Amino acid sequence: MNMPRGDHVPSVAVVGAGIAGLACAGDLATAGWRVQVFDKSRGPGGRAATRRTDRGGFDHGAQYFTVRDETFSSAVDGWCREGAVSPWTGRIVRIARDASAGAVIDTDRATRMVGTPGMSAIGRALAHGLDLACESTILRARRLDAGWELTVAATAGLAGHALPQRWDWLVCAAPAPQTAHLLAEVPSLAAAAAASTMQPCWAVMVDLDPVADPGWDAAFIDDSRLAWAAREASRPGRAPGGRWVLHASVAWSLEHLEDDADTVAARLLEAFRERSGLADRVRSLRAHRWRYARPDDALPPLPRRCLFDADARAGACGDWTSAGRIEDAWLSGRALAAELRARSAGVIE
Ligand code: FAD
Repeated sequence: MNMPRGDHVPSVAVVGAGIAGLACAGDLATAGWRVQVFDKSRGPGGRAATRRTDRGGFDHGAQYFTVRDETFSSAVDGWCREGAVSPWTGRIVRIARDASAGAVIDTDRATRMVGTPGMSAIGRALAHGLDLACESTILRARRLDAGWELTVAATAGLAGHALPQRWDWLVCAAPAPQTAHLLAEVPSLAAAAAASTMQPCWAVMVDLDPVADPGWDAAFIDDSRLAWAAREASRPGRAPGGRWVLHASVAWSLEHLEDDADTVAARLLEAFRERSGLADRVRSLRAHRWRYARPDDALPPLPRRCLFDADARAGACGDWTSAGRIEDAWLSGRALAAELRARSAGVIE
């Protein structure tokens, strides 16, 4: 364990309890730091999210994740043993724009992993043992001579948390545009975050009845409106039923970003019916807008997996530092934790 120098226990405020913030926080807590995590949402996980309903959950954000890196692979093995994730062996197809081409079985052999019983289980597993204040929006981060002071929106989320007046370090683990805003007092980091634009995604949660089978469980769809559709019940540990998550294409989401949610839901359902052939009765229909869904894939990844400024005692992490996947978020959080541990030994008196 890389303990900080002397008797001083460094403190760090981590803004954002998505995969990146939690990976960073967990690593620093294990190293003996005093860690406080804040998130404006009701629970941890960020975009690896599950919307609960009385008929079962909808994974309306990240759909699954793949594993390439060895250290991430070891962490995923641990989550598997805890029952927080499992492989998803659903029938995944590609549906071409030309309907006559039919659905083609996806030949990508990578194992697709999902949280169980929902994608939000990943965040819950990572948050275990951490001091996490949910429903706590950080409005402003003010730089002090040596450390940071935060303005937290007064919500019920802070009840029971004894917060210090200042933190030695600040970690910003929010999507790039929000990070640029929060790190305004560190211009070099704010500028790098501001340059990382992110793209939106309209997601639709639809519950169909009776349960019908189009012959596949999920599809990458080549369509001007829809990009993806997945049947919830095909994933391990989910309640049965006809719940589907539909994702709009980036272009359509951008074009309809400010549209009314009900109109968006109806238009994406119409596209789904056309491509799947499903005509079942709709029990419920809802749309969710992810304003910052994925980093713009036309932009190159940042030179490093995180941003860090030892003088300002601040850093930023998140999927937007590289390819915009769950694995990238986790690696980014861990990379920033390593920077903080290495540098804190030199700068904390
Ligand atoms: P986030 O998950 O966005 O976490 C940031 C957190 O910061 C959030 O919880 C937010 O509430 C919080 N926050 C922001 N501002 C503040 C503030 N001021 N105060 C307090 N809290 C704040 N990845 C894959 O690997 N595979 C997929 O199939 C996949 N599909 C996706 C589909 C969609 C529709 C979306 C939206 C994402 C998808 N992703 C996928 C991407 C994946 O979800 C992300 O890469 C990953 O979850 C990002 O984690 P993060 O920690 O970087 O950010």
